[in-house]
Amino acid sequence: MEQLAIFGGTFDPIHCGHLLVAERALHQVSLEKVIWVPSLNPPHKQAALFEHRVGMLQLAIEDNPAFTVSLVETNRSGTSYAINTLIDLSASYPNTHWYWIVGLDTFQTLPRWYRGHELAQMCDWLIAPRVLGGETITQSKLICKQVEQQLREQLITIQWQLLDIPLVGVSSSIIRKFCRKRQSIRYLVPESVRSYITNNNLYSNKSE
Ligand code: ATP
Repeated sequence: MEQLAIFGGTFDPIHCGHLLVAERALHQVSLEKVIWVPSLNPPHKQAALFEHRVGMLQLAIEDNPAFTVSLVETNRSGTSYAINTLIDLSASYPNTHWYWIVGLDTFQTLPRWYRGHELAQMCDWLIAPRVLGGETITQSKLICKQVEQQLREQLITIQWQLLDIPLVGVSSSIIRKFCRKRQSIRYLVPESVRSYITNNNLYSNKSE
């Protein structure tokens, strides 16, 4: 049975934090592949054109044979929901043990996702600690346990583990902010992504 992970996100734009998380996941649980799934219409976000986000994603991962981008979200119209992504990918990759890669901030909201209770049990969760509220690794673990407990109270059992990565404070919002302020984003995104942003004049509008 293959072991594959889905890494869903807006990737607006993809940054070095995302890449570090995916690479770590690959090795920590011996995955065959990480499938990057950019959301077409993220439930709670306004985002740059899907084509641009996919273009940057493809440039960023092209040198890693274990990374692939899936455009599965374009098969459906309306809001992008994680459970549909997993169902659709399962049809293309039968006989797979699924993992889902997620940042701590996103994982905390899992009990409230659309059909989150079902999805929670359909894959194992690889959680990337994140520094948003100044969390340490110990606090991150506690937060994960709280989510686990919250689901257990509703008779849902989940499998999860924290990814063993250094905390990286990079976010897509910081990159968009730096672009708006015409500040350097070198080393925060791969060089190819930086050129793509410059050449397509992305994130420069003050109103974005
Ligand atoms: P934004 O700043 O616009 O909210 P983001 O940086 O969180 O964007 P997303 O594309 O929304 O990027 O994130 C996809 C997934 O990657 C989410 O689960 C998010 O929690 C996780 N993630 C993003 N950046 C990091 C990081 N630096 N460390 C750990 N996880 C991260």
